[in-house]
Amino acid sequence: MEKDSQLSVMGGGLVGCLLSLYLARQGYSVDVYERRPDLRRAELAGGRSINLALSDRGWRALQNIGIAQDIKKVAIPMYRRVMHDLQGHLSYQPYGQEGQAIYSVSRNGLNQALLDLAEAQPNISLHFQQQVLDVEVATNKITLADVASGEQHQITPDVIFAADGAYSMVRLSLMKTDRFNYEQSYLNYGYKELTIPPGAEGAWQLEKNALHIWPRGQYMMIALPNLDGTFTCTLFFPFEGEPSFEALQTPGQVQAFFEKTFPDAAALMPDLTQEYFENPTGSLVTVKCFPWSHEGKILLVGDAAHAIVPFYGQGMNAGFEDCSVLSSLLEQHPGDWESIFKTFQEARKPNTDAIADLAVYNFIEMRDKVADPRFLLQKKIEAK
Ligand code: FAD
Repeated sequence: MEKDSQLSVMGGGLVGCLLSLYLARQGYSVDVYERRPDLRRAELAGGRSINLALSDRGWRALQNIGIAQDIKKVAIPMYRRVMHDLQGHLSYQPYGQEGQAIYSVSRNGLNQALLDLAEAQPNISLHFQQQVLDVEVATNKITLADVASGEQHQITPDVIFAADGAYSMVRLSLMKTDRFNYEQSYLNYGYKELTIPPGAEGAWQLEKNALHIWPRGQYMMIALPNLDGTFTCTLFFPFEGEPSFEALQTPGQVQAFFEKTFPDAAALMPDLTQEYFENPTGSLVTVKCFPWSHEGKILLVGDAAHAIVPFYGQGMNAGFEDCSVLSSLLEQHPGDWESIFKTFQEARKPNTDAIADLAVYNFIEMRDKVADPRFLLQKKIEAK
């Protein structure tokens, strides 16, 4: 196909935006359709991974389109894990050699920066509040609903890139095609986001340049720093059993549980019970499927192709890597979508399957083994 082929990216999240930039840079015209309103103007709904750990794979993908330096300015390096035990004692594990770090970035800030860049490209058009309802795979006809008015309309792009996340509607349409393999599995654990606000001087109340973990055997809490002096804590907790989300029903029960289980954190969480009951409880899914493409006309990328649980902090990073790998294949075989997609899915699938399995394993390590004294790389040091 020629460069005048019309490309549509479904989903304007992290991966959809980055992919549109890569495609536009190669001279294609790209339309991005996003279900939500423009998040640069909309009110933020709390509770869904407010910040993310960005690591080397992700940085490389951002570097290729020249925005790594801008994002780095608003990212917080985390040089080590800090483990908090039941008494509030701390122990440490570096993430790498001196100076090496993973970075805490705001999901919204990153998405906004990518949207700004996409909007600045003359060959990218952003369409908000446009929800994919269905894809007719034989013809590439997509039915979209305007979320505000409820009106439906159709488009027929030459190539569809599905970056519409773990519950992809495009993937759902592909599932009706012959020999499409699909599996999903949920953990019996969910997650809830909570906040440690800044201290009196607006400063971070825990070590800023670290990822904090409260490993408790069968469950855990983690905290990542934000630029505004807050920490976003994420409690990974069983849905049922004892203890569990189901078992903690009242503010009194939540407060008592946190004071006993995460005492140093609980002391820094004045809005704990309010947030606990207001913020949603998210579920944790792994999705594997294959093939990711259909006849050189449809391709799944990011979570739509390979959703993983967050314990390696690699879901977004893997999706960003999809974009850079795809772009280099496109440079090698311009317009030959069918062979690009085949090469892409065959190269990427073993890697994303591996990180999916490692991510589930790392949950056991983070919630349990990092608390094991034999596992510690550095001596325990008493807090304050
Ligand atoms: P999404 O971010 O889900 O974006 C999909 C977009 O498509 C959204 O904007 C959505 O509104 C839109 N959309 C959905 N359906 C439709 C539709 N029908 N029509 C139109 N638009 C639609 N990854 C990391 O690398 N590091 C981390 O530290 C990390 N931490 C995480 C913590 C948690 C608690 C969770 C749940 C995930 C974490 N991840 C992390 C994973 C990361 O969030 C995902 O891998 C990443 O968001 C995938 O990006 P995506 O663009 O493919 O999908």
